[in-house]
This record gives sequence, C-alpha cells and structure tokens, in this order.
Amino acid sequence: MSLLIRGARLRRLDGFYDILIEDGRIVELSTSIKRSADEKIDAGGRLLTPSFTDMHFHLDSALTLGDPRYNESGTLIEGIEIWAEKKRGITVDDVKKRAIKAVKMMVSYGTTRLRTHADITEPKLSTLKGLLEVKKEMKDIIDMQITAFPQDGILTERGNVELLEKAVEMGADNVGIIPHYELTREDGVKSISVAFDIAQKYGKDVDGHVDETDDEQSRFLEVVAAEAIKRGYERRVTAGHATAMHSYNDAYAYKLYRILRRAGVTIIANPLINIHLQGRFDTYPKRRGMTRIKELLKHGVNVALGHDCIRDPWYPLGRGDMMQALFMAVHVGHLMGYQELKDSLDLITINAAKALRIEHEYGVETGKRADLVLLDARDELEALALQRPPLLVIKNGRIVVRRSGSEAELVIGGRKEKLDYV
Ligand SMILES: [Zn+2]
Repeated sequence: MSLLIRGARLRRLDGFYDILIEDGRIVELSTSIKRSADEKIDAGGRLLTPSFTDMHFHLDSALTLGDPRYNESGTLIEGIEIWAEKKRGITVDDVKKRAIKAVKMMVSYGTTRLRTHADITEPKLSTLKGLLEVKKEMKDIIDMQITAFPQDGILTERGNVELLEKAVEMGADNVGIIPHYELTREDGVKSISVAFDIAQKYGKDVDGHVDETDDEQSRFLEVVAAEAIKRGYERRVTAGHATAMHSYNDAYAYKLYRILRRAGVTIIANPLINIHLQGRFDTYPKRRGMTRIKELLKHGVNVALGHDCIRDPWYPLGRGDMMQALFMAVHVGHLMGYQELKDSLDLITINAAKALRIEHEYGVETGKRADLVLLDARDELEALALQRPPLLVIKNGRIVVRRSGSEAELVIGGRKEKLDYV
C-alpha cells in the first residue's frame, strides 16, 4: 500500500512538498514527486505535521463524569475522593468500554501516541487489566504506553508497594509516583526511592505525578532529578504537572532548571486540568498554578504536554484534542509571540518524541515512520486560531481517520466506523 500526498506545507520549510509513503515509512519527500501511488491526496497547501503525542492521560477514569457524582469544589482532592468511590466496584469491561471510546476520540483529533496511567491502588488491578487489553486492541491506531500509577500513594496503605511491582510484572511500561500525596515529606522522598528501585529492577522508565499542588514547599521534583542523576537514569524520567514550581521563588526555580536539565527530566504540563484545579485555595489574586513552560524551555529543559483527563472527576470537559491543550498552554504560559506560537507545536510533537526517545523514527522526513496528521490550516498560527479538527490522520502509513465537515470516519482492523460523537 502506497500513499502520495501532494502540495503540503511542512513546518519550518517554505514552499510545498510531495510525500510518498510506502510500507509505513516516508520513502520520498521533494517539491515534485514523479512516481505514482495506490492512493493520492491533494493537501491543497495545508500543513502536514507528525501526529500528536499525549504524554499524560488517565484512560481508566475517562468519561465517568457524574458517576457517582460531580466534583463541585473543583479541587484535586475532591476528584481523588470521587474516583475512590467509583473504583470500588469498577470492572474490566467498564474500563475497556470507556477507554476505547476515549482513544477513538483522541485519534480522530490527531493523537497516535499516548502515555496513559492505570491506577494500581485499585487492588483487583481491573484498571490495568482493562488498559492492557485496550493497548492490544487499539494498536493499529495508537501506540500506547501504560504507567503503573499509585493514585492513593505508595506508602499510604499496606500492600501498595507490592501492587506497584505486580503491575509492572503484568505488563505496565513505566513506574509511577505521587510523592506530594504521601503522608509526610519523608514518605514522599522514600516513595521516590521505592519507585526507582522497581523501575531499575525491571528496566522501566519513571513517569510521575510530581508536586501537583500550589504548596511552594512541595519540592519533590529535585529529589526525582537527583535520583535520576545518581542512578544513571538520565532521560528516562518524566514528571507530570510540577505545578508547585509556579509558586517557587526564582532563585530556587533557577537551581531546579539546572538539575532538571542535567537529569534529562521531561516536564509534562497539563494545562487544561491545572488551570482548572490549581489556585482553588487562593482568594485574590489567584495563582494560575501552571508549571513554568517558557522558562523551562529557555533553560534547556524538555517540556511536553498531556491532555490528562476527559470528562471525569478532575475535568468536566474535553474531547481528547491536543490542540485544545496547546491552546490553553500558550495562553497560560505567555507563549503568544509569533515565533513562540510557531514553535509551540513542538510541545505536542517532537518534544514528546524526545521524552520517549524515539526521535530517530519521528518526523516528516525520508526514512521516518509515517505517523502524520493533515491539519485544516496553512500554518501553526492558523491551526491554533481556528481549532479545526484534522482532515487526515495517518498511522504507520495508513489513513486511519478521514474527516469531511462534522463527520469523521475511523478505519480500524480493516473496518470503517463513523465517529458521530466527535
Ligand atoms: Zn494525571
């Protein structure tokens, strides 16, 4: 199966390009390709980019909004309480059904690579079992990694350390942490060490929730970075949220940039969720509670984005569209200069690929894997301004989503499916 896309704009290049795809790879890229192909697409001068990556998401809780109740306070803690009620009776089937729907939504908006958390403090591990099946069943349309996520803490309950290790043995790809939610600062520090021990034992990366609070004294990120350095785990650690950084003094933040850069830690900002959950204990002025995307980038720290949630106890809105997450990020992070807006697409593309260490096969270049998205826009600014869903999503050289008007058609396992809810 070969596919020829004609007349596309590419990021950071002038002019129009033709792209020939064969056997899942880009085999030719030039201003005019003479060869033919099984299918030809006229891009009409629209922007073709690598497909998007969502680096932080909770598939197990997706689309549970209102079940068993709504989060009326808008705090992280009430969200965790509601989820605790929901997960008591959760089944593998329930997790699968919602997760599959959420994955299809994401793919239809251009995401073909996803890191999801599975809450492994649910003792039957139904969430993990469900997501392991979803990973397999959805592999034609999305590359999924599952992080064993200790939502209720690693040292808060007897047995959680064992659950974390068991989850990795069952097939989780990464080891999670949530040090700011442990009972004490000392437990938080110890929990990081426990997680790194498990990660090292099984050769896994560490993918944490770190300092997701407005407490300026929450300083676990430095501990995470120090562990990465001491254990030779550079470039193998991601830290999600890191919102306490918003409230750190500048001298301390400066110290942190340096050790994060040295440790090769990627910070995953989740702007949709944190602009909603943070600042909830403030009167006025209210802090935004977002990690410092602009300054981190300036100091050479890699930053990528997560959508985090869709319609669950923590976030009542969302459609799985990384362009919405980016839209929020550029506003909240003051990334609205012309060049900043142009570059901002890196946060949902190449920066995520760096965090996953897959740059060698990532991008719109000859020889790279054809995971692409044709946006209904001429450049990054238009894509952000208009927020139009993509016209085509290509995974491994195959078109998996075609869209015209408000209708999207998904192709999975050789079957075509109308996505009328996206
Ligand atoms: Zn999260």
